[in-house]
Amino acid sequence: MIEVAVYDTKPYDRQYLSQAPGGERIAWRFHDFRLSAETAPAAKGAQAVCVFVNDQVDRACLEVLAALGVRLLALRCAGYNNVDVIAARGLGLAVVRVPAYSPHAVAEHTVALLLTLNRKIHRAFNRVRELNFSLSGLVGFDLHGKTIGIVGTGKIGRIVAQIFHGFGTEVLAHDPVPTPDWAVICGVRYVDFDTLLAASDVISLHTPLLPETYHLLNERTLARMKPGVFVVNTSRGKLIDTGALIAALKLGHVGGVALDVYEEEEGIFFEDLSGQVLHDDELSLLLTFPNVLITSHQAFLTVEALREIARVTTDNLLILGTGKPFLAGTTL
Ligand code: NAD
Repeated sequence: MIEVAVYDTKPYDRQYLSQAPGGERIAWRFHDFRLSAETAPAAKGAQAVCVFVNDQVDRACLEVLAALGVRLLALRCAGYNNVDVIAARGLGLAVVRVPAYSPHAVAEHTVALLLTLNRKIHRAFNRVRELNFSLSGLVGFDLHGKTIGIVGTGKIGRIVAQIFHGFGTEVLAHDPVPTPDWAVICGVRYVDFDTLLAASDVISLHTPLLPETYHLLNERTLARMKPGVFVVNTSRGKLIDTGALIAALKLGHVGGVALDVYEEEEGIFFEDLSGQVLHDDELSLLLTFPNVLITSHQAFLTVEALREIARVTTDNLLILGTGKPFLAGTTL
C-alpha cells in the first residue's frame, strides 16, 4: 500500500480523497499544517506527498523530501507557482497536478462575485435580516450593454466570457496565445491589453501567475482603466499590486473590486481567524470598503471539482511504482 503525506488538509479534502475510487488502496496521512522545509520531515516513510496552493515547495523543502525517499509530489490544484519544479526534476521527484477539475466552478464563482458586488446582494442580505428594508445605497447597474474585459482566455476565461456574452455585454479579451475560432463563434473580440484596460467597464483576470503577470494590475495599468471600473480576480492574488489597488479605490477611480484571491492570502485564507487580531493591514483596510467583496479562495469549491481533484490525484498516486505513465497532461 502506498503511503501519502497530505498537507494543508481540511475536512472536505479528507472526505473526497478517502472516497475517491481506489482511495481505499492508499494509506492517507492527513496533516492540517502546510508543507515547508520545516514540516517536510512529517513525510518520513511516505512515497508521495500531496499539497495545495499555499504549501511552500521550494528547493530546501524538496531536498528534505528527496532525502526521505519521497518520489512523487501530487498537487491537488492547477496552479504550481508555489513549487520549484526545476529543483524537483533535478532531485528526481516527479510532479503531477490537476490541470482542469472544473473550470465551470471557478467561472461561475467569478460571475457570482460580480453580480453580488454590483447588485449589493451581500449588503441587502444583512439588512433584511435586521428588518431593514430600505434600498438606499443599493443601486447597481445593468450588465446588459456594458463592456467586459477578459484577461486570459484559457479554460476558465473562455467560460466566463461565454457567460457574460449571454448577459448581452460586449466581451473584449486579451491573451498572448489567443483562440481566434472560439472568439468568432462566441462573439468575443481580441484586443491589445491597453485597449482592454481603457474600454472595459468590468475587468476579470484569468491568467496564471508568471513573472510576466506579477502585478499585472499596478499603478500604471489601473490608471489606464475607465473611471468607475469594476475589477474581479479569481486567479492569483499576486496579479494585483494591493497597495496600488487601495489607492485607486480611495480615489474612486476603481468603482468596485471582487477578489477570491489576495496577494498575501497565505496563512489567512482557508483558516478560521475569527476572534483573532488580523495582522494584515491592507486586507483589514480592504474589508472596510463597502465596494470590496472578498471570498477566501473558494471559487473551486464545488462537489464536481472536489470529486475530480480527488479522482485525478488518486489515479496518479496509484500509478506510482507501476512503471506506467501518469495521467496525460498532468505531469509538470
Ligand atoms: P489556463 O492555463 O487554461 O489559461 C490561462 C490563460 O492565460 C492562457 O490562455 C494563457 O495564454 C493566458 N495568459 C498567460 N499570460 C497572459 C498575459 N500576460 N495576459 C493575458 N493572458 C495571459 O488556466 P485556467 O485553468 O483558465 O486558470 C486561470 C487562473 O485561475 C490560474 O491563475 C489558476 O491558478 C486560477 N485558478 C483559481 C482557482 C480558484 O479557486 N480561485 C481555481 C482554479 C484555477
